[in-house]
Amino acid sequence: MDSLEQGDAAGRLTAVTDRIEAAAKAAGRDPSSVRLVAVSKLQPEARVAGALTAGHRLFGENRVQEAEVRWPAFRERFPDIRLHLIGGLQTNKVRTAVRLFDVIETVDRPRLAAALAREFDRTGRALPCFVQVNTGDEPQKGGIAPAALDGFLDECRAGYGLEVAGLMCIPPVEDAPGPHFAFLREAARRNGLAGLSMGMSADFETAIRFGATHVRVGSAVFGARG
Ligand SMILES: *Cc1c(COP(=O)(O)O)cnc(C)c1O
Repeated sequence: MDSLEQGDAAGRLTAVTDRIEAAAKAAGRDPSSVRLVAVSKLQPEARVAGALTAGHRLFGENRVQEAEVRWPAFRERFPDIRLHLIGGLQTNKVRTAVRLFDVIETVDRPRLAAALAREFDRTGRALPCFVQVNTGDEPQKGGIAPAALDGFLDECRAGYGLEVAGLMCIPPVEDAPGPHFAFLREAARRNGLAGLSMGMSADFETAIRFGATHVRVGSAVFGARG
């Protein structure tokens, strides 16, 4: 293990945690109402180990296969790790994903909701889910279209019995994120959902102002991805 990398990660983690706390306070919110999902995709092992050693336990990965390589060993050393899947999930990877992750943030279509419900039934391991919303209606991006969201949420909850913890979005890079975060907050309120996963390295303070309960921060915590 590279101890310099580990120390850097611990220092950056503290800096981001401080910024989250300040943003929450500035918004009149309790800092403990905002969770930091440290996004470790494509990061060197030593940096992730540094965050773990510093006491952080909540992480996000966007690919099932990458998570499968790294996290089982870390879990043996740190059993209280919580891992969120924040990338698109193919139905043929559902079985592996349900085994590896604690929360699925990217439920975005009926076929996936159905496959997850079947796997939760089969294993008795029912994970909380977020529904991903394609707030910018971008054709290349995952997420349910805003116009279809309320119907899809009914289908997930009443139809498939999923525990929907909240909504997740990734605003278009070229847009100001505020209106997207406001849209997500309103959609969650309308549908009686408490969780809002929004905000990344560039905009997590804005997201906190708009009510984020989970910010997904990668490069600000770990440094640029290799
Ligand atoms: C990579 C990623 C992040 C973190 O991005 P940074 O800009 O490095 O903070 C957050 N959410 C999702 C879905 C991602 O894929």
